[in-house]
Amino acid sequence: MKPIMYLVRDLPGQDLEPLRAVLDVRGGGPTALPREQLVEAARGATVLVPTYIDRVDAALLDALPTVRHVASYGVGVNHIELDACRARRVLVTNTPGVLTEATADHAMALLLAAARRVAEGDRLVRAGGWKAQDPAFMLGTEVTGKTLGIVGFGRIGQAVARRARGFGLRILYAARRAAGVAEASHVPLDVLLAESDFVSLHVPLTPETENLLSRERIARMRPGAILVNTARGSVVDDAALAEALASGRLAAAGLDVFRDEPRVPAAYLGLDNVVLTPHLGSGTRETRAAMARMVLDEVLRVARGEPPRNAVP
Ligand code: NAP
Repeated sequence: MKPIMYLVRDLPGQDLEPLRAVLDVRGGGPTALPREQLVEAARGATVLVPTYIDRVDAALLDALPTVRHVASYGVGVNHIELDACRARRVLVTNTPGVLTEATADHAMALLLAAARRVAEGDRLVRAGGWKAQDPAFMLGTEVTGKTLGIVGFGRIGQAVARRARGFGLRILYAARRAAGVAEASHVPLDVLLAESDFVSLHVPLTPETENLLSRERIARMRPGAILVNTARGSVVDDAALAEALASGRLAAAGLDVFRDEPRVPAAYLGLDNVVLTPHLGSGTRETRAAMARMVLDEVLRVARGEPPRNAVP
């Protein structure tokens, strides 16, 4: 009997054929089953494949005690109770690196869209609101020559910095240690917030980064600044951000991630100066297929007794 692998949902671009020789592949489909049905369907599985939106907690691991490997699709692991996995000696792997460039592109897209009022302009044109030419109409924020503050300077943060240099931005970053990257200055977070015209978030969601951009820290941002979040929604105090945007103290925001996806706080929906995308950071066909390959390669490696490439500590 082959060990069972259970896919919580289909992975775009997945090729399951190479796995079938080694594993009994079950699950998949466009959406995840409700918890009780999922436990029933995954019973006996050795490998569980969730995506970044599928919660893996102690209760699920207890209900599926045969699971030895959680092979997650995505780089963030905040949806997985890592302590519970460690306590049960369950291996967790993820997909770092392959989504770096796509996510950095999306952060830049949100920065430019928020600065240049792209989504707002599109809505206005479609609604027939463009009545006459006027040089003072819908002015945005210049990008070239401004300062970008990058919070969390790992793979994606540094990929954003590479792009930002091409846009003539000066780059500051806040991180727990200096990255030794030329043309980017390591500064304390509060200095970054006080000096940056644009702030882009690239930390993982951890107990330490939850609410990192608190009401107090939002108040320290420069008047007229623009916030971009492609990290995780819970890094930001939504009520404080919405108030700062509604009052005009912050010029705009570009948000790809939310605390309780797919729900988006109502306060953002009524604000024209917020560009909203539905967690599209890594959402290109190429990147999502590369993530699927990475997950399934990792499952094969581990199933053959080889060491995993991307074990989450
Ligand atoms: P990464 O290479 O691990 O970079 C994260 C960086 O954040 C690391 O350099 C880490 O530094 C730093 N960090 C951690 N805690 C910090 C803190 N308290 N203060 C300052 N810096 C801190 O990860 P990545 O591949 O760039 O991905 C970053 C995050 O982006 C993921 O965890 C995920 O949540 C999010 N993401 C979103 C999308 C999307 O679709 N929107 C796609 C991909 C990723 P240390 O070395 O000190 O830990």
